[in-house]
Amino acid sequence: MTLFAGPVFEMAKRQFHIIADHLEIPVDERERLLMPKRAIAVSCPIHMDDGRTAVFQGFRVQHHLTLGPAKGGTRFSANVDLGEIAALAIWMSWKCALAELPYGGGKGGVAVDPLSLSLRELENLSRRYMEEMIPFVGPRTDIMAPDMGTNEQVMAWFMDTYSMNKGVTIPEIVTGKPVGSGGTLGRREATGHGVAFLAFRALDRLGIEPSRATAIIQGFGNVGSHAALGLAARGVRVTGISDHTIALYDARGLDVKAAAAYAARHGVLKGFADAAAVSPRDLLTLPCDVLAPCAVERVIDGEIAAKLQCRVIAEGANGPTTPEADEALAQRKEIFVVPDILCNAGGVIVSYFEWVQDLQQYFWSRDEVMDKLERALDRSWSKVVERAEKDGVSTRTAAMAIGVERVREAKRARGLFP
Ligand code: GLU
Repeated sequence: MTLFAGPVFEMAKRQFHIIADHLEIPVDERERLLMPKRAIAVSCPIHMDDGRTAVFQGFRVQHHLTLGPAKGGTRFSANVDLGEIAALAIWMSWKCALAELPYGGGKGGVAVDPLSLSLRELENLSRRYMEEMIPFVGPRTDIMAPDMGTNEQVMAWFMDTYSMNKGVTIPEIVTGKPVGSGGTLGRREATGHGVAFLAFRALDRLGIEPSRATAIIQGFGNVGSHAALGLAARGVRVTGISDHTIALYDARGLDVKAAAAYAARHGVLKGFADAAAVSPRDLLTLPCDVLAPCAVERVIDGEIAAKLQCRVIAEGANGPTTPEADEALAQRKEIFVVPDILCNAGGVIVSYFEWVQDLQQYFWSRDEVMDKLERALDRSWSKVVERAEKDGVSTRTAAMAIGVERVREAKRARGLFP
């Protein structure tokens, strides 16, 4: 199979086979569970400000549709390709299944650096991408959400484009919209809030007081910044933060509120506290209690894993830890890993709440959303910790096994057509 290629897809595949071995899934059942149901590739031509026409490659992968519509973000990033999007869709499947959401995994992307576009070009591209996807998505088929390089405004354009095409407002076609356009309270901070919430669960398990703990957060977008704010709100000293422009470390602690305000105003961290700059790769291996990778895939490799000086890894990003790093971490029992499909599930859980509210046209208070979110995360946390203990496996294997089992069971019960 050459359609899905590349290191990220290989990683998702390798992880799946580790789980399939653990669950003793017969070889002839594995392809059915792993290979994406649908993959869509489109060309998006748009008018640029200088009068040129530029064409951008767009993708959407629907991993499975067995439990309900596909669900997952759409990212705008220069390097996306079909293999990476497929891997991310597969991870969304296990994530949604672990959280018991009625969804299959989906993911989309456009190969573009969004910072290279003007606002108007970004709008043109967002609208054209959704326009190209209209035959393949729908509130009961595939529901998009924000991911790297996209935000509430992009979701509003997606929703508007879809709605204009159908002639009626259909807010439930995407989640992560502005609150004034059918979005839910709490969605913006949901992922980061969940990362901090589960990091506290892990600290508690290790007997570390939050007020005595330190944290390093890699990535300062929507997920990383809210994770940092959530940790700092309960007294954790955030000593390191980074984005694609700079990595900062100060053992005395950084002012994350000021950093978040700076990043919101300037779009980047560079210029905020340049005197504290360190090498981005070194930031990961500096001493801390909580290390939260909240940026891209495959940042903790085998070499870095052997050098880590943290007690908890709270994976805000999707796929930040390679299988080689997992092998190294298996020898380092002092480090507790909150795996991505558990740790960053707050986003899609609140997306599910948004979809439910949109379908019912009945909206909840922020307290209601956050309370339901924390309960859902607590349920998943307990399931994963108990399973890891019972089976004597890593938390990642436990989390993925629960997700894979749920999808497998649904496929088995529904049978094979025809
Ligand atoms: N893009 C986010 C993720 O990777 C959120 C997906 C969603 O809300 O549907 O989990």
